[in-house]
Amino acid sequence: MWIDSHCHITADRFDADREDAIARAFEGGVETMISIGSGYGTRGNALAVHLAQSDPRIYAAVGVHPHEASQLDDENRLAIRQWLTEDRVVALGECGLDYHYMQSPREVQRRVFAEQVALAREFAMPVSIHVRGDEPNAYDELLDIWLAEGDGELEGVLHCYTGSLEFAGRAMDAGFFVSFSGIVTFKGSAELREVAKAIPLDRLMVETDAPFLAPEGHRGKRNEPAWVPVVGEVLAGLHDCPVAEIAERTTDNARRFYRLEFASAVRSTSGNPSPS
Ligand SMILES: [Zn+2]
Ligand SMILES: [Zn+2]
Repeated sequence: MWIDSHCHITADRFDADREDAIARAFEGGVETMISIGSGYGTRGNALAVHLAQSDPRIYAAVGVHPHEASQLDDENRLAIRQWLTEDRVVALGECGLDYHYMQSPREVQRRVFAEQVALAREFAMPVSIHVRGDEPNAYDELLDIWLAEGDGELEGVLHCYTGSLEFAGRAMDAGFFVSFSGIVTFKGSAELREVAKAIPLDRLMVETDAPFLAPEGHRGKRNEPAWVPVVGEVLAGLHDCPVAEIAERTTDNARRFYRLEFASAVRSTSGNPSPS
């Protein structure tokens, strides 16, 4: 069984057939997906929380994407604080730095990322991290902010990782997991496959980042969580181990990282507190 550790299933590109896409994933060996609200504005966060609350197989993460950093206002801040207290919300994110598309100024991105790392610390939440462009600068700045604001108390995952092995090593030393998407399956991604090959199995996760980045064999189409095993198959080849082992290890890592058993327990005991 697989966990799609990062997808945007509430994106409007799924409006026409969201239930079918979710059903295909669960029929195809996906046990859980983390629905990331960030990247689609305040509405995206609200939709992700609502979906997780209406389907026990789905959990949500909320936050402010670096593209949208300059849109963060006080109303949004309050809403995020409220969502972080909901028991189906298991992480903060995705947040981070994106110096590739530069849809918000660097300085604003850094400030909003620092604010969210501090928030994650306050709420003791794991963090889904987006970092892209201008390596090493964006990456170094990201890690500096993480260490300064997180003070070694936080766990993060570098989602949809496309950076160097050198940075991944420093990030893992700081407690990060590393998650790969369909990009690692692309014909032109030989260099990234070398990075993926060197990430230990106890630090590895898989994701689709759907609706974008459909894996090899599906390129040009809308991506969906049912295709997360395609990423896992490539990782199995790189690590020279059975696909089932990659499924088991990445699922185990995602469960621990997002504390899914804990989130389920909170849900099943809410209203019926255990005597212990
Ligand atoms: Zn991202
Ligand atoms: Zn994403």
